[in-house]
Amino acid sequence: MARYRGSVCRQCRREGQKLFLKGDRCYSEKCSVDRRNYPPGQHGQGRPRFSDYGVQLREKQKVKRMYGLLEKQFEATVHKASRMKGRAGDNLLALLERRLDNVVFRLGFATSRAEARQLVRHGHFLVNGRKTTIGSFLTRPGTLITVRDKSREVTRIAGALEAAEERAVPQWLELDKDNFAGKVNALPAREDITLPIEEQLIVELYSRY
Ligand code: SF4
Repeated sequence: MARYRGSVCRQCRREGQKLFLKGDRCYSEKCSVDRRNYPPGQHGQGRPRFSDYGVQLREKQKVKRMYGLLEKQFEATVHKASRMKGRAGDNLLALLERRLDNVVFRLGFATSRAEARQLVRHGHFLVNGRKTTIGSFLTRPGTLITVRDKSREVTRIAGALEAAEERAVPQWLELDKDNFAGKVNALPAREDITLPIEEQLIVELYSRY
């Protein structure tokens, strides 16, 4: 599967904010955004000027990078959101949040979405009792996610659960830490997603094409 192989901290610096792509490092003083809060590259310290299109493009890039999607997957998600009932922007965020890799991260079984995707791909999780290795699997209310018995000893999962104690689990999810399990209780509502995202800009961007 194609994936971005460059520096992820560079992506945060490009967007001018922490996207929390590297787990523990993001909460430490080593974070590149804290140390060099200007865009990467030779002209990074110049004064950026953005047109309307540029603002929409940056918002799209930011969200795409936050959730770790490539352009084609992201575009398909935007189009799917536009075909659904309700506001396309809300639908887009809900579709991104419902992805299995995001749910695994939100429940605290991984320190970042990238790590969650890798753990899912390596077969450490059961979805409704069945092994699932597809990070883009769309969860729905009632979906039960459990760490496989033999994966409970995996240091990364146990360590992430410890570290996640400081991070609140969103209201639409429920964590049963003792049994290494989590449940989707409801569809995520816009107010459940507290990330600084202006989703309408993304919808406007794709409506140009
Ligand atoms: Fe972004 Fe985390 Fe790197 Fe900081 S440490 S720049 S938040 S990926």
